Amino acid sequence: MRDLFIDGRWVGATGTTPERVVLNPANAAELATVCEADEKDVDAAVTAARRAFDDGPWRATSARERGELLREIARLLQRDKEDIARTESLDTGKTLAEGRVDVDDVTAVFRYYANLAGNDAGRVVDTGNADVLSRVVYEPVGVCALIAPWNYPLLQMSWKLAPALAAGNTMVLKPSEVTPLSTVALVRLLAEAGVPAGVINLVLGGGKNVGEPLVEHPDVDLVSFTGGLTTGKRIMAMAADGVKRVALELGGKNPNVVFADADFDTAVDYALAAGFTHSGQVCSAGSRLIVESDLHDEFVAELARRADAIRLGDGLDEATECGPLSSAEHRDKVERYIAQALEDGARLVAGGGRPEEPELQAGFFLRPTVFADCHREMRIVREEVFGPVVTVERFDTEAEAIRLANDTEYGLAGAVWTSDASRAQRVAGALRHGTVWINDFHPYLPQAEWGGFGKSGIGRELGPSGLDEYREAKHIYQNIRPVPMRWFAGPTEGTAGGAA
Ligand code: NAD
Repeated sequence: MRDLFIDGRWVGATGTTPERVVLNPANAAELATVCEADEKDVDAAVTAARRAFDDGPWRATSARERGELLREIARLLQRDKEDIARTESLDTGKTLAEGRVDVDDVTAVFRYYANLAGNDAGRVVDTGNADVLSRVVYEPVGVCALIAPWNYPLLQMSWKLAPALAAGNTMVLKPSEVTPLSTVALVRLLAEAGVPAGVINLVLGGGKNVGEPLVEHPDVDLVSFTGGLTTGKRIMAMAADGVKRVALELGGKNPNVVFADADFDTAVDYALAAGFTHSGQVCSAGSRLIVESDLHDEFVAELARRADAIRLGDGLDEATECGPLSSAEHRDKVERYIAQALEDGARLVAGGGRPEEPELQAGFFLRPTVFADCHREMRIVREEVFGPVVTVERFDTEAEAIRLANDTEYGLAGAVWTSDASRAQRVAGALRHGTVWINDFHPYLPQAEWGGFGKSGIGRELGPSGLDEYREAKHIYQNIRPVPMRWFAGPTEGTAGGAA
């Protein structure tokens, strides 16, 4: 079994780490068995990346050449779109339609960075002094450890990989142990596209055996991580010892604020998509609905009615609207949150348990769930559930809506729904979240920064800032008419040679 990619070759694990069986969450059937790395394999991968960075020809490639490589990767992704979308759907449980959207998104990201890298080589600084040439150039950071979660395996890894590659770094990829398959497929495409040996390396395995040795490895210069808050804090602490650069994309508890003057049908429709796309296993899921009192009862009733009508099923079935949760353990965790919410007094108005259909019993399904009468003291309102659960709170004034929407330790994304354009801008300006949608939910663009305020993370992916995460800025200053400057006047006459 050769599932690790080290120094340009597919290799097996050298140690005795057990193989991992990857499950289809829609029916718990075995999808694949992969080998997992240990500390020695991680060391081999980082060493290969270090060598390719320090000694290989990669660093000397021009941004234009690297751009061509990224464009070729984008072409191959489109060529294999259907296969990769299918793999992602099987591995994560998401619908095939969403798998296809992910491949298109990732393709766009590779194309965006292909263009950006070549167009942003640095800048000349106007010093106001004709005898000085000053310019700022960008150089790659070095060896990057890229660690991704299980909800958007291909997409989250590519948001890191494309800019890291465009900037000229070398790297070691570690996908989630729960969903490694689309990253293996992606690395096959990278090799086919002609990425030189050692530039991209892939190790599989869990956080303890593989993630930690990778983060702690002294030859790693940068760690870019997407995942949970607890893991993010641990990674930051581990990276501190080596003063490594750290980029963190963590969780969210994202408010979706609906004013009474919003278009009712559209706002309900988007509230469902915000909360239940990919069974709510989305970092930017609109899991906290905050609805104006005048509209509240009608809105909750319609939301519950439509949530109960969502068709669950196997992601590959074109009729499926919502797939399962990623694993049995994760579903257990979400069910504990639901039980706690009931104990805390939240009013269940939709879902709340597992589906009854016989064909869904083997998979890790949970019905889309809506709780009304929620407030800030409840755990279900404060903590990221990462499942198909939406809570509803109510407000009476614009100021109260803003206060509630900002009352979270996270700050990844939020939305405001209103037909009052001035209010939309006021509220968007006041929200302390990295992305704010007005009369929409969920879209993101390769050209626009993505990331969080507060405990949702450090740094930004996508956009120009997404490239800057992987570059060092270097100032080169040249004096073109060097003459002695006499800062120190030198010995005065009669004192040469020291004290008389
Ligand atoms: P996780 O933190 O459990 O794992 C993420 C990755 O880190 C996995 O590859 C895992 O193996 C690895 N890991 C775990 N422990 C580690 C350690 N000690 N050292 C190094 N690596 C370690 O997260 P998850 O459950 O896979 O993903 C869900 C979380 O990801 C949610 O909190 C979600 O909000 C977040 N997320 C955030 C974004 C974003 O853009 N902000 C996007 C997607 C997911």
